[in-house]
Amino acid sequence: MNKVAHYLQEHLLGEVTANAEVRRYFAHDGSILQMPPAMVVYPRSEEDVRKTASFCWQLVKRGQAIPITARGSGSNTSGGAIGPGILLIFPAHMNKILSFDAKRRNLTVEPGVTYSNIEQMLFSHGQFLPPYPPSQNYSTIGGAVAKNSLGEKSVKYGVTGHYVRSLRVVLANGEVIETGSLSKRELSQKMGLTNFEGEIYRALDKLLEENHEAIEESRGRFQNVRNTAGYNIFGVKSRDHFDLTPLIVGSQGSLGIICEVSLASVEHSPQTTLCLASIPKLESLHQLLPQIKHLRPSVLDFINRPALQLVSRINPNQLSGASADLDSEAHLFVEFDDIKKGRQKDALKALNKLIAEAEGSLVAYTDANDKDQIFKIRDSVATILNFAKVPAKAVPVAEDIAVPQDKIVEFIQQAYGLYQKIGLPPAAWGHIGDGVLHFQPLLDLSKLGDRQKLFRISDSFYSLAIKLGGSITAGAGDGRVRAPYLKLQYGDKLHGIMQAVKNIFDPYGILNPGVKTATPAQIKALMRSEYGPARHQEYLPRY
Ligand SMILES: Cc1cc2nc3c(=O)[nH]c(=O)nc-3n(C[C@H](O)[C@H](O)[C@H](O)COP(=O)(O)OP(=O)(O)OC[C@H]3O[C@@H](n4cnc5c(N)ncnc54)[C@H](O)[C@@H]3O)c2cc1C
Repeated sequence: MNKVAHYLQEHLLGEVTANAEVRRYFAHDGSILQMPPAMVVYPRSEEDVRKTASFCWQLVKRGQAIPITARGSGSNTSGGAIGPGILLIFPAHMNKILSFDAKRRNLTVEPGVTYSNIEQMLFSHGQFLPPYPPSQNYSTIGGAVAKNSLGEKSVKYGVTGHYVRSLRVVLANGEVIETGSLSKRELSQKMGLTNFEGEIYRALDKLLEENHEAIEESRGRFQNVRNTAGYNIFGVKSRDHFDLTPLIVGSQGSLGIICEVSLASVEHSPQTTLCLASIPKLESLHQLLPQIKHLRPSVLDFINRPALQLVSRINPNQLSGASADLDSEAHLFVEFDDIKKGRQKDALKALNKLIAEAEGSLVAYTDANDKDQIFKIRDSVATILNFAKVPAKAVPVAEDIAVPQDKIVEFIQQAYGLYQKIGLPPAAWGHIGDGVLHFQPLLDLSKLGDRQKLFRISDSFYSLAIKLGGSITAGAGDGRVRAPYLKLQYGDKLHGIMQAVKNIFDPYGILNPGVKTATPAQIKALMRSEYGPARHQEYLPRY
């Protein structure tokens, strides 16, 4: 492999290394899996990415497969940012904001720039990119687009994909394409191309045309649920337009490698009202959540009593002085950000009434320091994730599940039952306004019994989400960890269409293989025997 690294180094501007320590370092992402790459490339330009892909394409045609995995900061919890071949590390050099047109609210960036760097630039123009994930300080826009990430603001503003206008993408053979909405005439021109891009348009159009009925029949099934599982075959072709962008968004580098992203920004409202509503009975959420959503909150997050109990156990000081009834079953974090302050006041008044009817309590603040007190409670989840000084860690399975709004309470109740049977605390949190819930179990992966529990929990939670009409992943991506449940979620027909999409873009299987296709046996073979999420940031690239 050193020979290959040497050859690539001679042809690329960016650094290439097969150093054992670097490979060990990049063997992990934010998931429970591990796999050292054969080598690491730090591309300096699209041309470097293009040459790498073209090289691997030539090689695989001669019988030697070296797969390529694109990587941002590796915070992905689904095992999608690791790979056995070449790891392309984008934050090292391809990390620039290329342009911002304030008038058109159009932003063009390289994939390795962090979400929070983009936000800081936009804030100075009174703008922002709303679906930032909690990891925004270190995670990249390329990772967010490739996974279609969402965050606390998604309940009002939607997911990252909604803001992507177009992408520059390196295809499996090294060709570069630009995605975007095409008219019928433009599609015909693309289909007339004699290169790989033309082949893709022709094969995809045929596939979608032949399966039109099956796709249309299923379209409605996931309309009311946040869902990034599989490939978004629903967003590509409509009566008068054709767009590859929705397919690349959420594809986790398994269809192409994103080298440039054009995004739309929106007006930012810095003055907000933040409320903490504590609800004595879980069942009340059934009625409350749609009523609160009707008030157009910009955040609607949740944490349950067992989660706060766990925080108190791990770090008793964490919640001292918290202005909430910590014994309540559910806590909701509700923010209103309407530019018109009067509307925020009206929404708060209505919320007060709803919470009183549910026999809950409410505190509301507009001052930044007071608001921090409220978010301190929500963000205390980080204590569970990062600071448990016991071998058992909150491992990322049974997380990022999305269920339709009318099934949320049922899902939580059944999840409580499952954890009671297994003997684990049912700590839960999430962007509940989007139906997104995390039930990360505390497990010690060095113990065989806990590893067995992990698979039982995965099976039970993802199957339950699917049974209730939900999705195995709202924003974290199916990656490898959730790949075995894709068929269960979509059924044979749609799953087959998605596999055909993969074959069209990546006929030799060199783009992030295993992502969206891994089997339970493959996952078991890649399992880590320890898990330490606090080390996420150590896995940032070396510059
Ligand atoms: C504590 C914690 C909380 C989180 N909460 C959320 C949450 O609420 N919502 C959410 O959506 N996510 C969440 N995440 C997951 C993750 O942080 C985000 O999804 C983030 O956007 C990923 O960015 P990254 O740079 O780390 O990407 P990576 O992890 O490096 O990559 C993610 C995927 O994208 C692919 N990829 C990366 N760059 C490219 C590229 N240029 N071209 C093609 N493919 C590429 C990778 O192959 C991989 O499959 C959380 C993670 C942590 C650790």
